Amino acid sequence: MRTIGLIGGMSWESSAEYYRILNEGIRDRRGPTASAKCLMWSFDFSEIEALQHAGDWAALTERMIDAARRLESGGADVLLICTNTMHRMAPAVEAAVGIPLLHIADPTAERIKAAVLRKVGLLGTAFTMEQGFYKGRLTERHGLDVLIPEATDRETVHRVIYEELVAGKVRPESREAYRAVIARLVAAGAEAVILGCTEIMLLVEPQDSAVPMFDTTALHAAAAVDFALG
Ligand code: GLU
Repeated sequence: MRTIGLIGGMSWESSAEYYRILNEGIRDRRGPTASAKCLMWSFDFSEIEALQHAGDWAALTERMIDAARRLESGGADVLLICTNTMHRMAPAVEAAVGIPLLHIADPTAERIKAAVLRKVGLLGTAFTMEQGFYKGRLTERHGLDVLIPEATDRETVHRVIYEELVAGKVRPESREAYRAVIARLVAAGAEAVILGCTEIMLLVEPQDSAVPMFDTTALHAAAAVDFALG
C-alpha cells in the first residue's frame, strides 16, 4: 500500500472527514483491520484564513510548499491538498516536489462526466467560485460548463463557510439558505452541483438538491484510496 500525504487543517473539520473516508475505504477493500497509511500536515487555519482574506497568496504558496516538502520527506508517495481553495497553489506545489499531486477537481469532474452531465453549479469559497484556477480546470481540462451563484448568494455561501462550517457550526437556517442557492442554480440550468468546499458536505444532504450533488471531499479521498492500492 502506498502512503498518502495530506495537507490538512483547512479546516480540521474536513480533514477529520478525509481521515475517516480514507480509512473506511481501505477497510472496505482490504479487510476489517486494514487502515490507510497516511501522514497529515495540519495547519492552524486561523493563520491561513487571515492570509487568504489579506490576499497574501505568495505567503500561502510558501506555506503550502513547505508542508508538501515535509510530507514528501516523511515518506508520502502522493499529495492531497484537503481544500478546494488552496488548489490555487496546486501548480506551484506540484512543481516543488517529486511525488504526484491528486488534484481535487479531477476525480470530481470524472464522476460528473461518467454521469453524462455537463452543466454544473459550483459552490465554494468566493476564491473558488470567482477566481479562474478552479473553474478553469473544470472547463479547459474537462469540458464542463460551470455556473456560479449570483453575487449575494456567493456572499452567503462564503460567509457560512468561514463563520460557521470551519468552526464546526451546522445551522438549520444556513442549510435553508444553501437549499435556496442550489434551487436558483438549478433554475439557471445546472444539471448537477459541485460541493466545491470540503466542509459543505457537513451541511447539505442529497435531499437538499433537485439535481445530483458531487462532494469533492468524498471523491478526492476515494481517488486517494484508489491510488494507495494501485
Ligand atoms: N475547505 C474549504 C475549501 O475546500 C475552505 C477552507 C479554505 O479556504 O481552505 O475550499
